[in-house]
Amino acid sequence: MKQRKEIYQAMGISQEVISYGEKILEGLKERFEEIDRTAEFNQLKVIRAMQEAKVSEACLSGTTGYGYNDLGRDTLEEVYARIFCTEDALVRPQITCGTHALALALMSNLRPGDELLSPVGKPYDTLEEVIGIRPSRGSLAEYGITYRQVDLLPDGSFDYERIGQAVNERTRLVTIQRSKGYQTRPTLSVPAIGELISFIKAKNPEIICMVDNCYGEFVERIEPSQVGADMVVGSLIKNPGGGLAPTGGYIAGTKACIENAACRLTSPGLAKEVGASLGMMNSFYQGLFLAPAVTAGALKGAIFAANIYEHLGFAVIPDGREERHDIIQAVTFGTPEGVIAFCKGIQAAAPVDSFVTPEPWDMPGYDSQVIMAAGAFVSGSSIELSADGPIKPPYAVYFQGGLTWTHAKFGILKSLQQLVEERVVDLSKYAEKF
Ligand SMILES: *Cc1c(COP(=O)(O)O)cnc(C)c1O
Repeated sequence: MKQRKEIYQAMGISQEVISYGEKILEGLKERFEEIDRTAEFNQLKVIRAMQEAKVSEACLSGTTGYGYNDLGRDTLEEVYARIFCTEDALVRPQITCGTHALALALMSNLRPGDELLSPVGKPYDTLEEVIGIRPSRGSLAEYGITYRQVDLLPDGSFDYERIGQAVNERTRLVTIQRSKGYQTRPTLSVPAIGELISFIKAKNPEIICMVDNCYGEFVERIEPSQVGADMVVGSLIKNPGGGLAPTGGYIAGTKACIENAACRLTSPGLAKEVGASLGMMNSFYQGLFLAPAVTAGALKGAIFAANIYEHLGFAVIPDGREERHDIIQAVTFGTPEGVIAFCKGIQAAAPVDSFVTPEPWDMPGYDSQVIMAAGAFVSGSSIELSADGPIKPPYAVYFQGGLTWTHAKFGILKSLQQLVEERVVDLSKYAEKF
C-alpha cells in the first residue's frame, strides 16, 4: 500500500482522496467479483467462437484490392455470428462508425412506403438525421420511409398500449436502442428487450426487430440477438473492438438482413464477396479477444464513479447499486464548474494528451457548449477513458470507458482531486459518513 500511495501522490492525488477512494472500494468487492464472473463467461464464449470458426494465423493478415476470398474477413464474420448466435454477420473496416452501421442496417432493410417504429423514445442524436426527424440530405424520409415513435412511460417501462396502436400494416422495422446514450432514461436489459420483441412479433412476426447495441456488448452474458432480435448493430471503437480496432462497425443478424446490408455496403450482386480487410484483421481479432476484459474494466470504473459521487451527494444515473446494462455513467454536478473540473481530471489522467486542458466549445449539432475529455490511442474511441458534458442544466457529465480498470480508477480519483482543488467538493464534510 505504501508504494502505491507514493506513486499516486507523485501523480497528484492527495492522501485524502486516496483514502476516500479506498473506503468506497471496500464496499464494491462483491459487485466486482460478479463482473469478473461475467467477464470469465464472455471470455470463454469468445475463445470458443474463435476455435470453432478455426481462426488461424493466415486469418490475421489482410487483403488489398477487391478482397475476394478474404479468409480473415470471412472467418471474423463467422466468429461474430457465433458470439451473437446469429445466422450471419457483416464486420468491416468500411463501416466507418456506429451511426454508419445503424444507417446501413436501416437503409438496406427498408423500402419506400415502409414505416420505421421506435418504441423506446427518441433515438441517439445522430440517428435523427438518418431517419429524417431533423430534415437531412439522403435521410430515410427522402426515400419515402416514414417514422413513428412511442416514448417510454415516466417510470422507464414500455408503453405497450401505445406501441400496440402504433404497429400497422406498413410497420416493417422496429429499432430498439439498448443504451440510454446521453439521455436520462434507464438502459434496457437484454431480458427486457426480449419481452418487447415478443410483443412486437406477436403483432406481426414479419417485422424486423433491430437493436442498437452500442455500449452494451459483453456487459451481460447474453446479447439481444439471443432473445429474438433480427439484427444487432454496433461500433468497433466501442466495446467489441476492445480498444484495439482502429475503426469499423458490425451488424450481426439473420441471413436475409445481412445480405441486404452487404448489398448496400458494397453493391447488389457483389454483397459480402468484396471488401479488402487491409491491415485491420489483427487488431479486429485481438480487440475482440480482449473485449470481455476491457468491458469489465470499464464497468468497474462506472460503478466506482457512481459510488464516489453518490456518497458526495450528487445525482448519479445509474445509481451505485443498480444492475448495469451498458458502460455509461452520468453524474449531475448542477454547476458548470463541476462538469469542467471533472473533465479536466479525466484528461489529466490520460496516457496521451494529458498536458492539454479541455474547454467548452460550440460543437456542430448541439444547442449549447460542450466539453469533452479524451486522451485516446484511437481518436474518438469511447471504450477508452473519456467524458463529455453539455454546459447547460442540469450540468451532467457522461463518463465511459477505460481500457483497464486501474486506469479508470486513476481517472476517477484524478477527477475527484480536481473537484476538491477547485472547491466544488469538500471531502472533510463526508469523512464522518464512514
Ligand atoms: C455511440 C452510439 C451511436 C453512434 O455511434 P458512432 O460511432 O458515434 O457513430 C449510436 N447509438 C448509441 C446508443 C451510441 O452509444
